Amino acid sequence: MKRRLLTILACPVCKHHPLELTVVKEDEKEIVEGKLRCHICQIDYPIEDGIPNMLPPERK
Ligand SMILES: [Zn+2]
Repeated sequence: MKRRLLTILACPVCKHHPLELTVVKEDEKEIVEGKLRCHICQIDYPIEDGIPNMLPPERK
């Protein structure tokens, strides 16, 4: 995902924004691997193959 996406991505559960980004792997164009964390919900949304997975986790 492009770094600038961070400015529009919000937590799907609580709509908190911005999310805390941790980059594991980044190339010259985009973040390839990492995670986006919502510190309100304590949920990590993984970024894999450049695609952020913003699906909320299953409710317990
Ligand atoms: Zn949240």
